[in-house]
Amino acid sequence: MTTTTEKLQELDRQHHFHPFTDQGDLNKKGTRIISKADGVYLWDTDGHKMLDGMAGLWCVAVGYGRDELVEAARQQMSELPYYNSFFQCTTPPAIKLAEKLAEVAPDHVNNVFFTGSGSESNDTVLRLVRHYWAVQGQPEKSVIISRKNAYHGSTVAGASLGGMGYMHKQGGLPIPGIEHIDQPYWFEEGGDLTPEEFGLQRAQLLEEKILELGVEKVAAFIGEPLQGAGGVIIPPSTYWPEIQRICDKYGILLIADEVICGFGRTGNWFGSDTFGIKPDFMPIAKGLSSGYLPIGGVMFSDRVAEVLKNEAGEINHGYTYSGHPAAAAVALKNLEIIQDEKLVERVAEDTGPYLQDRWQELLDHPLVGETRGVGLVCALELVKDKTTRERLAPDGKAGGLCRDFCTSNGLVMRATGDIMLISPPLTITRDEIDELIEKAKKSLDDTLKAIEAGALED
Ligand SMILES: *Cc1c(COP(=O)(O)O)cnc(C)c1O
Repeated sequence: MTTTTEKLQELDRQHHFHPFTDQGDLNKKGTRIISKADGVYLWDTDGHKMLDGMAGLWCVAVGYGRDELVEAARQQMSELPYYNSFFQCTTPPAIKLAEKLAEVAPDHVNNVFFTGSGSESNDTVLRLVRHYWAVQGQPEKSVIISRKNAYHGSTVAGASLGGMGYMHKQGGLPIPGIEHIDQPYWFEEGGDLTPEEFGLQRAQLLEEKILELGVEKVAAFIGEPLQGAGGVIIPPSTYWPEIQRICDKYGILLIADEVICGFGRTGNWFGSDTFGIKPDFMPIAKGLSSGYLPIGGVMFSDRVAEVLKNEAGEINHGYTYSGHPAAAAVALKNLEIIQDEKLVERVAEDTGPYLQDRWQELLDHPLVGETRGVGLVCALELVKDKTTRERLAPDGKAGGLCRDFCTSNGLVMRATGDIMLISPPLTITRDEIDELIEKAKKSLDDTLKAIEAGALED
């Protein structure tokens, strides 16, 4: 007898092509099919329960099973399921969400252009940034400087702005006019420098690049306040102040990609608040709607608004679903929940510090070379040698092993190479954090045992 799971897996094999997946490899095993969720927990079609340490894909900020969000979508969809914001029209939820975003964003950021995702937000940023300079008589000021191992999405502009070499290999990327400097990843690339020395050095690469290209060619610098998909890389304390100084000195625009950091993840509304930067543009998505419906946006500063709203003429850019009323209604309710339940404050003062304390305990494990984190996002490095930071070989295999042990032990933890990542819902309780840590410890023990038994060797 075949189970529901086996039937679904077979159909999946036949018809469903997955993102970021080696389909041949997956089809040999079969997909895990997630069919139910509540709070911080997921269940698959075999009834296996897991604590979702990744909040979906960094997005389910308020947790699963929130009837308020379902009701907001239902109400809006029965009243007006769709209308656009083209042709001098819009809808009430789009307006109200824009107002709410201006309220929670840094003081100098009061405008938003809506998109359907983080990738679309970064495509939008690329065009708005270049248009900003072009309408001021500087069309040649068009190069955007980014970082290697940055993640800015998967569309043509998003993946080009991103610095993932393996993504650039497919589809003829990156597009012209984007430059990538080295990242502030001390554990991997810092050598004998202190983190502070290294952070400063990596920030100064921006100044070198500006001078090499000529400031008249450089439009903007883009960076995630902390690199998420690249491995929760938290820049040394010296990094962002120096980047801000350089952007100010040369008058280039600063784009903070807030798609992961936005809406409380780091213990402030935005990563820009946590790292003390003053961005001109902020792409947002993910936590904006807690993933209940797809929506993103590009927020921009008053300095940029001055030009885009008064001097730029018609913007020849927009999406059918820019400001989608049902998605906007859900996002608005989601932000109200974050405010009403004081989730940002809770991350800053209670669960954030608690998780960081407990996460640090994992550093005692023989496989762990570093633990790091801020707010409710953490990473650890699996290594062969704790003191020399020497990696396990082959690269990434231990990470995959550890991730699979986590899954069987009832914890969703992500692996980027040999870096293990968590970014749980902002609603996670102290008890659930304890459970997460216990499961992570057990999975690290299982990984070590497997390695000792030769699991990395074949
Ligand atoms: C996920 C992500 C994106 C892309 O968002 P999508 O909604 O997947 O298109 C962009 N930037 C950052 C920093 C992200 O983490």
